[in-house]
Amino acid sequence: MLRTARRSDPAELLVPDFREEPYWWLAAPPGQGGDTADHDLPRQVEVAIIGGGITGMVAALDLARAGADVVVLDAQGIGEGAARRSAGFLGRTLKRSVEWLARKGGHPYAASVYRELDTALKGVAALVEAEAIDCHHTICGRFVAANSPAHFRALIDDLEATHREVGFPYQVVERHEQHREIASDLYCGGAVIPDLGSIHPGLYHQGLVRRARAAGVRLLPFTAVQSIEPGEGQKRIATARGSFHARQVVIATNGYTSRHLSWHVRRVIPFRGFIVVTEILPPGLIERLLPRRRTYLDTRMNIDFIRPAPDSNRILFGGLTGTASDTAAPLAAALRSRLAAILPDLKDVRLARAWTGLCAGTFDFMPHIGRQDGIHFALGYNFAGIPIGTHFGRLVARRILGREDAESVFETARFPTAPFYGGSPWFVPLAMRCFDWHDRRIAARQPATSARAQP
Ligand SMILES: Cc1cc2nc3c(=O)[nH]c(=O)nc-3n(C[C@H](O)[C@H](O)[C@H](O)COP(=O)(O)OP(=O)(O)OC[C@H]3O[C@@H](n4cnc5c(N)ncnc54)[C@H](O)[C@@H]3O)c2cc1C
Repeated sequence: MLRTARRSDPAELLVPDFREEPYWWLAAPPGQGGDTADHDLPRQVEVAIIGGGITGMVAALDLARAGADVVVLDAQGIGEGAARRSAGFLGRTLKRSVEWLARKGGHPYAASVYRELDTALKGVAALVEAEAIDCHHTICGRFVAANSPAHFRALIDDLEATHREVGFPYQVVERHEQHREIASDLYCGGAVIPDLGSIHPGLYHQGLVRRARAAGVRLLPFTAVQSIEPGEGQKRIATARGSFHARQVVIATNGYTSRHLSWHVRRVIPFRGFIVVTEILPPGLIERLLPRRRTYLDTRMNIDFIRPAPDSNRILFGGLTGTASDTAAPLAAALRSRLAAILPDLKDVRLARAWTGLCAGTFDFMPHIGRQDGIHFALGYNFAGIPIGTHFGRLVARRILGREDAESVFETARFPTAPFYGGSPWFVPLAMRCFDWHDRRIAARQPATSARAQP
């Protein structure tokens, strides 16, 4: 059994070798295992990709396989961005529901958005298989836990509307049945989405980097791009290490977009996610707490999320998204309390790692792909960049190669910004409090009778 702990004692909160670092770096440390190569700056390349995360690596791989001369530049080490900091949930996540989209743009538009999200989800599985990347990819299903009876009603209504529109499956889990999914009494039932998955994001990204390098992609870590001369012809790219020319440029910087990229930084809203991982748990405990070994999240706008580690007897927990802290360690105690509120058996568990990373929101809650002043961009994944980043990476490569199958419903004439916004997201903690208020309002509603809508 886990030891009884006094909450205020750091020794009881953290294991002795606790580190503020992503758990995934144990198996896939950035800059090791052949991940980095310090090339000299080229004088001229066909394609320069800025940002060495998932989007950048997938685009680079496809372009290099098609014979293009490609460099990937990153301000940090390759793999230090969000790509190896995520929770590894694979979903069709969008803050806008199918009904909201149908009201705004009509039913065909709403269906095309969700179909493309499904293409993105399936694209990860297809790429992992085609490239034989050993990264614990699995279709484990997701349990979405309702925070109140009204949230349950809204969840089922939303899943049913999506099922009607595009046929995605789901299964209702009533409150009295929820222990078969999670050993928690906190929730009011929920739903299983059986065809969603999970991945080890570190090994996925490491696999992409290795395949890209083997295909001839040159990596330039610790090379921040300071300016790009726009235009349709050759573009001059200035970095702290000098400058060079590229025929095509791709901006794949998502939540890390720097101020040098002035048009883009005004359109993405960086916000922090926080994750902790437990010490190694006693045998059998995960099977009792999370018997189906799915991914788990709740119905609030500002979610808590849980998953078992794919490669050890530990549980990962994330929450407090958008909190104004540049580091995760100060939030470790609060994150453990939230985890214990869901799974009381873990109230005294010690934490082995805590980390944070930057995601990118957008003013319309949609991801965006397109071209601005002759420069390709793919940005604004709103917490769901593994599938969408993979998908957009492939689309950008096809666009550069002049292929026809490169259209996206997410390419819109308008990529909105806000007056006076220059990339400083001072309002994120405030927005999170508004989301909390919105969730409390939903929870206070009296739901209609309990639903058992089955697809
Ligand atoms: C805590 C957390 C949990 C998450 N959980 C999930 C999840 O479960 N499922 C999911 O699908 N998504 C999740 N995400 C989101 C997902 O990780 C990201 O959307 C995705 O990794 C970001 O895209 P990317 O990999 O292409 O870019 P990133 O890996 O973010 O890389 C962008 C790179 O751009 C570089 N850069 C920026 N400006 C410049 C410049 N001027 N010059 C050179 N380089 C520059 C940065 O150094 C950075 O390395 C999560 C994110 C976080 C932080």
